[in-house]
Amino acid sequence: MDYQFDYLVIGSGIAGLTFALKAAQNGSVAIVTKKSKVETSTNYAQGGIASVMSVDDSFQLHIQDTLNAGDGLCHPDVVELVVKTGPDRIRELVDLGVPFNTGTSGSAPFDLGREGGHSRNRILHAQDMTGQAVERVLISTAEANPAIQIFEDHLVMDLLIQHQSIKAGSVSLYQQDICRGAYVLDTITREVHTFTAHVVLLCTGGAGKVYLYTSNPDVATGDGLAIAYRAGAKLANLEFVQFHPTCLYHPHAKNFLISEAVRGEGGRLIDRRGRAFMQDYHPLKDLAYRDVVARAIDTEMKKTGDDCVFLDISHRDPEFLVGRFPNIYQKCLSLGIDITKDPIPVVPAAHYMCGGILTDLSGQSSLENLFALGECACTGLHGANRLASNSLLEAMVFAHNAATACAERIEGWRRRDLPEIPKRLSSSGRVDDPQSSEMVLITHNWDIIRRLMWNYVGIVRTDKRLALAKNHIAQIRMEIREHMPNIPLHGDLVELQNLALVAELIIRCAIQRKESRGLHFNLDHPHKDDVNWLKDTIVARNPGEDAVSTVPIKQVDTV
Ligand SMILES: Cc1cc2nc3c(=O)[nH]c(=O)nc-3n(C[C@H](O)[C@H](O)[C@H](O)COP(=O)(O)OP(=O)(O)OC[C@H]3O[C@@H](n4cnc5c(N)ncnc54)[C@H](O)[C@@H]3O)c2cc1C
Repeated sequence: MDYQFDYLVIGSGIAGLTFALKAAQNGSVAIVTKKSKVETSTNYAQGGIASVMSVDDSFQLHIQDTLNAGDGLCHPDVVELVVKTGPDRIRELVDLGVPFNTGTSGSAPFDLGREGGHSRNRILHAQDMTGQAVERVLISTAEANPAIQIFEDHLVMDLLIQHQSIKAGSVSLYQQDICRGAYVLDTITREVHTFTAHVVLLCTGGAGKVYLYTSNPDVATGDGLAIAYRAGAKLANLEFVQFHPTCLYHPHAKNFLISEAVRGEGGRLIDRRGRAFMQDYHPLKDLAYRDVVARAIDTEMKKTGDDCVFLDISHRDPEFLVGRFPNIYQKCLSLGIDITKDPIPVVPAAHYMCGGILTDLSGQSSLENLFALGECACTGLHGANRLASNSLLEAMVFAHNAATACAERIEGWRRRDLPEIPKRLSSSGRVDDPQSSEMVLITHNWDIIRRLMWNYVGIVRTDKRLALAKNHIAQIRMEIREHMPNIPLHGDLVELQNLALVAELIIRCAIQRKESRGLHFNLDHPHKDDVNWLKDTIVARNPGEDAVSTVPIKQVDTV
């Protein structure tokens, strides 16, 4: 089936929904999302959203904290923009009905939490389920809007790119690629649909599933990064993967995060013998930046041979803990851990991708009519490390800016014809069921990639491990290319191809950066090199590169 909308939004997290609600004021919007609409990282965010909302705080302090975390690579204009316009975006959420906890002191209307790297209490939260509260309100508002149509179980495979020759009279001035839509697999009916639109917004979230241990939900397979790369957009800073220091360590806990707010409320990291160790690593102790804490835990675990450390907050009043962290309390209790009495077993896990699709201040990527918002974007806010709770804020600020930029251009775009659509597949547009006997090729390679990335491209890296990882991943990608096309098209195969490509791109960026900065720590280059590396690491598809496109994009010439 062919669909046509003004705006095609890919992803139903905070970035996609915020943009959709604003864009719906001047056009029709399709939101396509590959699983159920609430299955997003946004829905699992616990801690909250950072913003200057108290008289004890200032824009300058939030800016400085963000710059300090970013370790020299933040773009100061972006940091200033996000921090200063943040409170307006928060007020919009409040107006929509997000139930942030309100304050008890006179200095702030909200109850503001504290997290690592923040010099003030500035985290707005809805208990410890902030993301769920935001997601629910945004989804219900979008569903009530007749200009917005949500397509669940629709997985975007690749973008539809139009190759255009820009002419003045009969003289050809330059060639340009323009994004005009996407090929989308309905994972229930197995039909492939074509969505055309004046502008496409990639809001596909993170890539935590590239690693064996992650706090991210299953949808975080880096699809947006792979899709943008194949289409020719520039990506940046993929070596900066944030590992959250404290994921619950329990055989029956899948991807459950123990929020940084627990340390903000006085939680202390201890080893199996009960010794607090963070004072050995940083003057801020348990509230040091995430990379410092994650490396400290990694070092302690390697030193002791223990398979986890512990986070102890049992000294706080039990009533306070149950009220402040109801979700964490209940989850731990269901696994036999009473956080009011017992220390919580924790390990670090891949949590947030600081790099992504390179954008300008309005979220526009390097490819015409393609925007990237939220975690899949690299706006310049986070630099080499993200300050806790700045990501939900960034997604909202850039969604707003993108909607404003698109509103100014939509009339012009409407005057342009949408292209003839090259058919993605044979006439039926339908794909067959995979041979179950061949599914093992997908699951096996999926597992190998995640282990490889965890062991060789994890919290602490070396030149040798990176070189080995590069070879392994090249081998895996070759195997996928040579053997997998025999397997009929399937959502898991699309994700595997994306995962493998994103792994390769992370390795490429990590190999390029011959220094240690922020989240990238390489034992063979343990110091910062401001002379050569005070810059972003940019990757783009080489001309003629054999991209593993799941969809061969046919080029259309228009004049
Ligand atoms: C456990 C956890 C706790 C967190 N806590 C906080 C916090 O307290 N504060 C904070 O600021 N940040 C936090 N973060 C980070 C933050 O939640 C994310 O960065 C943010 O929600 C990303 O929003 P997004 O809209 O960019 O992507 P997401 O919310 O992840 O949404 C991505 C969407 O894209 C869809 N999608 C992906 N690929 C495709 C495809 N090929 N086709 C169709 N759809 C696709 C997905 O299905 C999903 O709907 C946390 C993250 C996690 C995992």
